[in-house]
Amino acid sequence: MNILVINCGSSSLKYQLIDMNEERVLAKGLVERIGIEGSKIKHKTTGKDEVVVQEPMSNHKKALELVLNALIDENHGAIKSMDEIGAVGHRVVHGGEKFAHSVVLDEEVMDALNECIELAPLHNPPNIMGIEACRELMPSTPMVGVFDTAFHQTIPSKNYIYALPYEYYEKYGVRRYGFHGTSHKYVSLMTAEMLDKNTDDLKIVTCHLGNGSSICAVDGGESVDTSMGFTPLEGLAMGTRTGDMDPAIVPFIMEKENLSIEEMNNVLNKKSGVLGISGISSDFRDIEDACKEGNERAQLSLDVFTNRVKKYIGAYTALMGGIDALVFTAGIGENSIEIRETVCEGLEYLGVELDKEKNKVRGKEAIVNKDGGKVKILVIPTNEELMIARDTLELVSK
Ligand code: ADP
Repeated sequence: MNILVINCGSSSLKYQLIDMNEERVLAKGLVERIGIEGSKIKHKTTGKDEVVVQEPMSNHKKALELVLNALIDENHGAIKSMDEIGAVGHRVVHGGEKFAHSVVLDEEVMDALNECIELAPLHNPPNIMGIEACRELMPSTPMVGVFDTAFHQTIPSKNYIYALPYEYYEKYGVRRYGFHGTSHKYVSLMTAEMLDKNTDDLKIVTCHLGNGSSICAVDGGESVDTSMGFTPLEGLAMGTRTGDMDPAIVPFIMEKENLSIEEMNNVLNKKSGVLGISGISSDFRDIEDACKEGNERAQLSLDVFTNRVKKYIGAYTALMGGIDALVFTAGIGENSIEIRETVCEGLEYLGVELDKEKNKVRGKEAIVNKDGGKVKILVIPTNEELMIARDTLELVSK
């Protein structure tokens, strides 16, 4: 069966068409600037040249219509007709406490999804728009929702409850939800496969380090804690997000700088992180280049970033009572040899011993600990699309 995987942002849409018989990508692409002047699709069918379709796309439905056209196009398409799409898997950012697993999308689920909007006002509405557009264009094709939060629903209450008045949890659902669940799940399953072990027997710390970054403690195949919280702002310092800090700073800065709630949210989410500290960029390649030129603030931002990753690895090792495997994934985790090296430095006492030669890999699966090292260190390119497609196949085959 071919499965179309859709990941809708507010003005963008990523897609992959995957042949699940061989788990092979038939085509993939990215739509940018939906609803903004200059909309375009970059589409690539495996084995053919990339094409760029430039056409006005006022909304997600129009964008999806053009994506489907690109997929069945005689010249640059991957399939002959839409009938060859057996099901659609949608990435949904926030499933709240309602969704601990992926689900087939029906009316009842759509209502529940709409109830989750309050928890993810930036992310869920475009996800829902994508689903609705798809249901209109492909009314008889089954659709599945796969949630970023679902994998973390196994986290015990002692790790998800904030030390706030309990009524805020009861009234508003204020608790840790965690994100990047599909990625943490995928790399923890891959870890077991690469080590030829059962996930039940492994304590894994997975580091998803990208534009947004989070760490997860995976014990016996289940998420038991993760660094992102009520929103994706908590935890590690990120490209543009603060991560952990004293919450009293928020009202203090708001008063000093006379900022509204919206402006303060913008500072915390868009102007902080390594961008905020360095004043240079949110892209770690730029930061690493500036460090090589001796830029001290760039170096400081990198040190803050790597130190916090290290702190979480220590914390999660303590929480699980040990660590068998440490995993690096996403843009930075897969590609930055230097950041992996800095993070592992000083963790030898835990049994984390990186082999600097083996660590010289980018963007491919590798085991990079020293021979005989107690803790296995792995680099695993994440594949959220494949994970979504697998869940979709499983649910529609039932
Ligand atoms: P997203 O969260 O948007 O999916 P990615 O996982 O693609 O992000 O990660 C993007 C980040 O990965 C970029 O901000 C960039 O800083 C970082 N990155 C990509 N390649 C490298 C590299 N070779 N060295 C260091 N950082 C890299």
